[in-house]
Amino acid sequence: MHRAKTLLIPLLCSIALGAEFSGASALEYTRKAVSFGPRPPGSEASRKLQSYVRSELKQRRCEILEDAFTASTPHGPVAMRNLIARFKGTSGKAVVFSGHYDTKLMPGIHFVGANDGGSSTGLLLELARVLSRKPRKHDVYLVWFDGEEAFGEWSDTDGIHGSRHLARRWAADGTLHRIVAMVNVDMIGDRDLGILRELNSSEPLRRIVWQIAADLGYSGYFLDAAGAIEDDHMPFVRLGVNALNLIDFDYGPDHSWWHTSSDTMDKLSAQSLEVVGRVLLELLRRLEQ
Ligand SMILES: [Zn+2]
Repeated sequence: MHRAKTLLIPLLCSIALGAEFSGASALEYTRKAVSFGPRPPGSEASRKLQSYVRSELKQRRCEILEDAFTASTPHGPVAMRNLIARFKGTSGKAVVFSGHYDTKLMPGIHFVGANDGGSSTGLLLELARVLSRKPRKHDVYLVWFDGEEAFGEWSDTDGIHGSRHLARRWAADGTLHRIVAMVNVDMIGDRDLGILRELNSSEPLRRIVWQIAADLGYSGYFLDAAGAIEDDHMPFVRLGVNALNLIDFDYGPDHSWWHTSSDTMDKLSAQSLEVVGRVLLELLRRLEQ
């Protein structure tokens, strides 16, 4: 009995902290983002979504930073903009949670990217709501990346435009060296959630996150299946940052909803967003201990 009781206390603390993250709220933020329609970089819909994210962040206790730049793409120069919320801490260290808000330019297809671009946008907005409720030990940066998607074929020079730009900027201004952990999320709204072990990621950080998932009773969503995915964590991994990508890369029958007009809100669930959000908040709590 006594042993059971001592085991129960830390677990209940974890649940209480993570419980502030609402999957229903994250899903509503996602729905709003998706309502702007296809959101490729430089589009009117992209600007409308930027305004929406900014207006939400103005209601939070955070500094709003913007990283605007011109990317060279197979379609010529395109104006892009990463949006960043900084929740100031006192330790000098930083934790980064990121995801992309752009959707892939798909001429002739009404691609709204509910999961691919929408879910990361909504999850980060809900994290902002929760994080603003109390002071932090570490700086927490929430980053909405622009230009994750390639305009043409994915290559070293097309795709992850926003994260490549911010990684260079943060390497130059010293921010990079303060980052103790970075977790990028992508396509984590799938109602049939299964996050793979992403092999380009930091394995030590990956193990910590899988352990947290187990502690919270979410093991079923964090798979043993592994695969290497290039995503917005890569520019940071290459510069030595302790970075992890959380991605569910099995979307619909035989992955058939990915980059198609079928990537719509009805494929998502509040529960999936809640699982990921609560795991991230528990990771932050442990990092700040
Ligand atoms: Zn995509």
